[in-house]
Order: sequence, then C-alpha cells, then structure tokens
Amino acid sequence: MSARTPTVCPYCAVGCGFYITRSGIEYMQDHPVNEGSLCPKGNAALDVLNHVDRLRYPMMRIGDGWIRVSWEEALDRLAEEMKRALREMGPKSIAFLGSAKCTNEENYLFQKIARLVGTNSIDNSARRCHSPTIVALRRMLGTPAMTNPITDLALSDCILLIGSNLAENHPVVARWILRARDRGAAVIVADPRVTPTAWLADLHLQLNPGTDIALINGMINVILREGLENRSFIKERTGGFEELDVSDYTPDRVSSITGLSAGDIVRAARLYAKSSASTIVYCMGITQHTCGTDNVTACANLALICGQIGRPGAGILPLRGQNNVQGACDMGALADFYPGWRSVDDSREIDELRRLWNAGALPVGRGLTADMMPDADLRFLYVMGEDIVNSDPTVSRRRGKLKRCFMVVQEIFMTDTAKLADLVLPAAAWAEKEGTFTSTERRVQWVSRAGEPPGEARPDIWILAEVAARLGFDFPSEPEEVLAEINQAVPAYRGISRRNAGARGGIIWPCPHPDHPGTPVLHAERFSTPDGRARISPVHHTPLERTSPEHPLILLTGRVVLHYNSGSMTMRSEGLVKREPEMHVDVNPDDAARFGVADGDTVVVETGWGRARARARVTPRQKRGTLFMPFHFPETNLIASELLDRNAMMPELKIAACRIGRAD
Ligand code: SF4
Repeated sequence: MSARTPTVCPYCAVGCGFYITRSGIEYMQDHPVNEGSLCPKGNAALDVLNHVDRLRYPMMRIGDGWIRVSWEEALDRLAEEMKRALREMGPKSIAFLGSAKCTNEENYLFQKIARLVGTNSIDNSARRCHSPTIVALRRMLGTPAMTNPITDLALSDCILLIGSNLAENHPVVARWILRARDRGAAVIVADPRVTPTAWLADLHLQLNPGTDIALINGMINVILREGLENRSFIKERTGGFEELDVSDYTPDRVSSITGLSAGDIVRAARLYAKSSASTIVYCMGITQHTCGTDNVTACANLALICGQIGRPGAGILPLRGQNNVQGACDMGALADFYPGWRSVDDSREIDELRRLWNAGALPVGRGLTADMMPDADLRFLYVMGEDIVNSDPTVSRRRGKLKRCFMVVQEIFMTDTAKLADLVLPAAAWAEKEGTFTSTERRVQWVSRAGEPPGEARPDIWILAEVAARLGFDFPSEPEEVLAEINQAVPAYRGISRRNAGARGGIIWPCPHPDHPGTPVLHAERFSTPDGRARISPVHHTPLERTSPEHPLILLTGRVVLHYNSGSMTMRSEGLVKREPEMHVDVNPDDAARFGVADGDTVVVETGWGRARARARVTPRQKRGTLFMPFHFPETNLIASELLDRNAMMPELKIAACRIGRAD
C-alpha cells in the first residue's frame, strides 16, 4: 500500500474524495465537491475493509452447510451450471443482477456476459431508485442524468427540493445549498416530513404524501396565469407545450389535494419562475411511486416552461443513491438498455455493439427486471454485489423461490442474499481494486488500489474475466483495458481515460475525446433528443394509497444519515450502529395518543403487505396521519407495497396505508 492513496467514498452517489493512509482517512481539501468534508458514513468507510465478517474463500453449498472450495472448482461449477441452464432451458432461464456499488468496468463486463449468452435479463438497484428518472428524462430531454453539477447549486437563486431529504441522504450536497442561501437564494422544500432538509427551507411545503404532481401542476397554473413562463424558450427549444393543460389545477383545488395553503402554492410558483436561475433537486420521494415517471415528468415540465435549464445554476438534479448508480446504468446493467443508453428495442444501435463485440445475434427486447426474477422460471441467477433479499420487497417475500434456481452471489460479506446461494464468491471491496465510479453528477473518478483483499478474495473484474473464459469469451482483465473498450461502446465516455478520470475530481461526461474538458452543464444549446428539442408532456394527479378504517395511517419510508441501502456495510460499522442501532418508527404525538403508543414502546406496524416490529419514536416532526420507517432494516421492505410504475417497473416503496399498535 502506498502512503497516501486517493479514493472515492463507497457509499452515496455524491462521490466525495478522500485519501486512505496507513493510519486511516485523510481529508482531501481540494476535491471539487466535498472540499475536505465527509459525512458520518464517509468517515466510517474504512470499517468494512478489514472487517472480521469479510468473505475470504469461495464456498459451495452442500445440503444446509458450506464447504470451502478452490477458485478453480468454484468457477468451473459456475460455468457448468450456466451452460446447463442454457442448454436445457435457453437464455430465458438465466438472469443477472449487477451492482451500483461495483465499478463501471465491472458492470460493463457483467452485462456483456449476459448479452453474449443471449439475455437482457440484467438489472441493478437503479430499478428501485431512479428508473422513472431514466424513462422520463430520456424521453423529455434525451439524456437521463443530472443536468448540472452539484457545485452549481451555489449559483442558483431559487432551489426547489422535492422528495429529497438530502441533509441526511446526501449530506455534502447541503453545503452547496447553504452557500446559495448565503448569497440570498430562496430554498423551497416540498416534503410531508419535517426533516433536517426542511430546516434549510425559506418555504416548507408540508404536502400530503403522493400529491407532488398536483403541487407542480398548481405551480405551473399560477405561472401561466401570471405570464411568468419563458415564451421564447418554449418556442425555440421545446415541443408539446400546446398540450399542457393545467387549467384544473387552480391554487384552491391544489390546496384541497395537497393540504397546503393556496398562498404558499402561489409563493412557490413566483419564487421559482421569477428567479434568474432556478434548480429542481429531487430524489426517491419523487421516483419511488407508482406514478414515479409522471412525477419526474411534472418536474421537467416546470423547468422547461420557465426555461430554467441548460445554464449554470438552472437545471434538474435527480440525486442518485449508491455511489455508482449512474455508471452502472451508463454501462447497460439494465433490462431495457445496452451500454450507452442504447435501447434493447433498437436493432440498429444493438448492431453497433454486435460489431464491437464481434458477436453473433444479440438479444432484443426488455429482459426480466429485478422484481420479476423471483416469479420467473429461472434455472440460474448470478448476483454481483447486491443484497436484494433485504432491499427489494418482492424478492424479500419470495426469497424461497430463488432457491429453486442455481444461485451465485459475488460479495464482500455473507449477506442474507448470499445465504441463499449455492455458490459464494469472495470479492474485493472498492479500495482493494481499481476502476472508475460515476457519481450522481456524471463525474467519472478513477479509484486506485489502497490495499489487498483479505484471504483469497479477488477483484470482480478478475472473477468476470475468468467466468467469461470458461464460457468461451476473451475478456480483458485489467480495468484500463476495459475502459478502453467502454470508450468505444459508450459515446459519452469516448475520451475518458485513467489520466483524466484519475485527476483530482475526475471528469464529467460527456467527454467526446481525450483532450475534452468534460461537460458540467447539459443542454446548453440543444437537447439530446433527435430534433434537439425537449418534449413537454402533460401529466395528471391521481390519488395513490388511501387510508381506511383498517389502515388509518400512511407509512412513509426513507433513509437516515447513519445507514445506507440494505445496511450490509453500515451495519458492520460499530460507530454507526452505536448511534442508530435498531429499527424505529416515527409517530406524531396525536397519533401516538390515538393508538395508545408511547415513546420507546415496541410496536407493530401492519400494512396490507405484511407486519413489522419497531421501536416507536414519538416526534412532532412527523406529520399527523403518517408514520416513517427507515428502509435500511429488513422489516421495512417486508411491509412495503409491491405495486409498480408500469413505465419504469419501479415498486411503490414510498407509501403504504398502515396501522400501528403496541407489540404486546
Ligand atoms: S455525502 Fe455521500 S459520498 Fe460524501 S461522505 Fe457522505 S456518504 Fe460518502
């Protein structure tokens, strides 16, 4: 290990940089995004590296137990089982789950194996966080990604945060919002809960859950009525405006839907439309709904009619969850896209890859998404770096079905998903390997090796090259060689190299050639749609989950600052667990009194989908009529809804009608 290795935080998608030294973390003061700061998770990032629970050897299931096997045996068995499934049942019988925690190079090779053996049944955790962003922004703007860098927030004069508790979930982003506030920018937060993010707000819109479209359409109604829209931008840069009819969304009607005052809706509309540069920031409070795609569409409509996009400080910022969600999707670890956002339905685009890969026919049409896999008649499932059993409600409830197929899990810990596997392959953690990660702002950063993996654990890229060789494919096994192939497969990455991605702060795609400086602001002169114009698309409010006498409350789910995703990493950090040790449910004091619950009680929360125990935290910050549970604990996923946004196959993870009572 060198004395001081630059790296990138393995947790959220902000992409904070720091150094790993022999004595621990050293802050990277000149990183463009975090400027030397790290949140509690980033500060605890090294806890996982030498953790006693790390997987050290390949293991094969024998009955209910495990035996240690050699890499040779493990890889031969994997290839043999995959080939058997292909021979007996065809490519429809196999599926792959990539990882938003693995590098671009690893996800690229992983999806390439899937496609070369004939299936588009490959997905990653983006399905459960930003698949509606992919569908809506690709259709409307041409590029499904953040339009501006995080640092641009400091240049905004009005920031609308909707469905995002970034002060806890992407804490370092908050510093750029505070900088904007110091310059006099207005901050609007639309969220049913009083979160630490809401404390940043000049105007907190504590709307009813699931009423975001009504709020946005209400703001558009005010903007059009008062003539605050940007007519020249609409005329020159967009299409579809004539179809945008929001005349029904008067402030009074929207007030009755959202529970907000009409005055606050008008104020929010004026602040957003009149500012010289406004930004919309959203996260899973927008996307994790059956109307997630429509929610994102509504946000983009608002930005487009005001011309608040394509300039420094003016744009749409979907905040991704895991550190490489954007990159895993850019690389095509998705059931509906090949690398470079080539649609699985576009045979002309697929043909370009077929030539690059020197392959025969490649599969066409959407494969199985993560939620569909348990119910499919699979013979073989290959999971790389995802604890789907604890992060996906459909899989959680159907975990038994996964045992019917031969399952391989490539992981750093024995997660609940790995416990179901027939073969467990020990992988290197992020700081024990090399490659690139792409943060939420399209920033591609090269990560260097700071140490060796424990035992016989190996970098995923080595494992994938070995698997490919056993299937008859010749894959590169060095990250730089894979990146060189990505240069050809993914147009936005054409000029990205170890040199520019390894410079401080990396480089922001699109980067069309090696000397290009990167493109922090998208859509400055034209949108990346075929005709260069953005598409305005009308969407309408439809009520989501309703309460009933049986389920009189609405359960909201989300994150807390100390944990991350399914908790497979943060739950192994003593410092983080000490401060946030157990499953809890936030309850408004009025609801607590109504249902006989006291602070600290063990309670049962029950939805139409299941029941879970949790510790009650009674707090006036929770909106009356709602509960909140963090999804880092398995119980929350067991009671979440399975209803889907059919455009993006996104489950309704955010809200469910429920009841609460003391456990005894
Ligand atoms: S904000 Fe995100 S990337 Fe930065 S330190 Fe925290 S978890 Fe890591």
